[in-house]
Amino acid sequence: AAAELRTELEPHGGGKENLLTGLIFAGIVLALLLAWAAPEVAASFAVGGQVFLSVLKMLVVPLVVTSVVCGVLSMGDVRKLGRPGAATLIYYFCTTAIAVVTGIILVNLFNPGAGIDGAAARDVARAEVSAKLGEQAVSEPAGVGAIFENLLTMLFTDNLLESAAETDLLPLIVFSLAFAAVLTTMGAAVGTVTKFVTEANDVLMKFVLLVMWTAPLGVFCLVAGQFGEAAADGDFAGEMAKVGWYSATVLTGLAVHAFVTLPLILWLLTRRNPYQFLFQMSRPLLTAFATASSSATLPVTMETAVEKAGIKRKSVDFVLPLGATVNMDGTALYEAVAALFIAQTLVGSADAIDMGLTTQIIVAATATLAAIGAAGIPQAGLFTLIIVLNAVGLPVELAGLILSVDWLLDRFRTAVNVFGDATGAAVVEKFLPPEPVPTAAGTVFA
Ligand code: ASP
Repeated sequence: AAAELRTELEPHGGGKENLLTGLIFAGIVLALLLAWAAPEVAASFAVGGQVFLSVLKMLVVPLVVTSVVCGVLSMGDVRKLGRPGAATLIYYFCTTAIAVVTGIILVNLFNPGAGIDGAAARDVARAEVSAKLGEQAVSEPAGVGAIFENLLTMLFTDNLLESAAETDLLPLIVFSLAFAAVLTTMGAAVGTVTKFVTEANDVLMKFVLLVMWTAPLGVFCLVAGQFGEAAADGDFAGEMAKVGWYSATVLTGLAVHAFVTLPLILWLLTRRNPYQFLFQMSRPLLTAFATASSSATLPVTMETAVEKAGIKRKSVDFVLPLGATVNMDGTALYEAVAALFIAQTLVGSADAIDMGLTTQIIVAATATLAAIGAAGIPQAGLFTLIIVLNAVGLPVELAGLILSVDWLLDRFRTAVNVFGDATGAAVVEKFLPPEPVPTAAGTVFA
């Protein structure tokens, strides 16, 4: 039996792996069919989805800590992080900015807000937004200063356990980086700690692989639960149709980013076949669609990036955990489209704002920051959208216009967020310090 388990855990033959991906895909399709045919029955699977989500989330905190420590350890010295570290940040920033620009171009082209009377919808929208986001979000919306303040304080914590309890990953990453940096200076004196963290990381990665075999069922339950509930709710199709052009704009932008921009970047910088890469990463992408959370998907993204796409652990270990919380291309694109869509619904009314270049630039800048500030959890982007709206003087209650479709679009943007992170890991791999090669004459660098 031990030998059997071992084979199960070994780096995988393509056949079995593809079967698993196929099963996850089938889980989603079946769930959608069930939600359409018998919404109430489908909705009752939600509890299974919760269990699957809990298992993934349970793995995130220990995995982030051990993998970030291992990532630094594998460099040998924290100073070697300079080049890949800079490459990571530049990659995050550039791809997010390109996503925002894509969104802005499309929303101006499609003009989805034309024909919708935002001003007339304000009262209804206000009630909906304050029910969802809290009255304070509407009456005292956060300003841009709040983002900067937030971004800074988000990095630190006075209590690591509290951050862990809330799956608040950034302070855990900062702590792990610092911890590993100290560890690398202490050499043989801390051999046990080093070995423990490294081995714990290996165990967790294998653990994720086992959990993956429950994913077809988990994903089925998540999708059936959420889509079943929406279908049972009655007028989802009607709600969707009202903001159909807005949804089409967001989805087109996401598709351009995922199928054109990121593949082009990947090919230019790594010469990998981008569409093969997309296929290799399909498991985390489907999981992201089902969970609507980059953080919950993180274990799957890491495991697949190493085992299936063959990206070096070093790169995966610190590009992906950080990326899951700060690099959100899909969210940034959506925030820019949503803000300008809302502005378009007010054209001609007393609340109209100037839609000139300055406004578009402010939207681009704040959407980028708002995406960095959004947590990798369902619909976090909706909360940080308030900051973008407030920055250009749009009535924040009009976020209510897009509320009904947000849970659905969230799934697509989360998949794009995850794909952006995975592409980043493949790109940053090219910027890793050279591996030491032992030779008869001593160690040289390849
Ligand atoms: N759900 C997204 C994520 O986890 C964040 C968002 O856009 O709401 O990546």
